Amino acid sequence: MRLLMVEDEERLAQSLSQGLRAEGYAVDVVGDGLLGLDRAREGGYAAIVLDLMLPGLNGFRICQELRREQNPVPILMLTAKNGEYDEAEALDCGADDFLSKPFSYVVLTARLRALLRRGATARPTVLAVADLRIDPAARRCTVDATALRLTVKEFGVLECLARRPDQAVPKTEILDAVWDSAFRGDINIVEVYVAALRRKLAAADAHCLIETVRGIGYRLTPDER
Ligand code: CA
Repeated sequence: MRLLMVEDEERLAQSLSQGLRAEGYAVDVVGDGLLGLDRAREGGYAAIVLDLMLPGLNGFRICQELRREQNPVPILMLTAKNGEYDEAEALDCGADDFLSKPFSYVVLTARLRALLRRGATARPTVLAVADLRIDPAARRCTVDATALRLTVKEFGVLECLARRPDQAVPKTEILDAVWDSAFRGDINIVEVYVAALRRKLAAADAHCLIETVRGIGYRLTPDER
């Protein structure tokens, strides 16, 4: 997962990005607001950690601009206590969450994880793979315009795969996205749901299938028949 960090305090940016990289995120760091907006527009980021007070363009304006352009990327805003803007304004401008400086690294990563989980389901776009359509907002799934009846967990697993069609999605990621963090069971529960989904997709004659990627997880891909 690639993150964009727009933060002009070099030492803070460096220590945060080092920590996040150690947890497996790819992190691009930018120290200027205008550059940050450009990078964000290029897309490809799972989330943006956005400082409020920045040279060039402040985080408030960057956030507003991205939302005006219908850019749905999850944004975690870093605000300073007694700053020019308060936390309510950070949310008003379209940020998904905020964190007041100074904050602990542990809280930052926890908020980011929550944001990445939530961010994925809060976006009202319809996902499409071949003749499969998934509308996360309406919790509706169709194959060639015919409704596919799925349980809540089946829907979650399929949605998770459809967000990254043709890519191997690790089982752990599916588990994180669909089961809450209190789940302490076997990761192979994912297999049970994938098996059920395969049966339902086949029964609906869907032109896509869930492939097993050995040692990693699963991939939803168009069925080239
Ligand atoms: Ca700053």
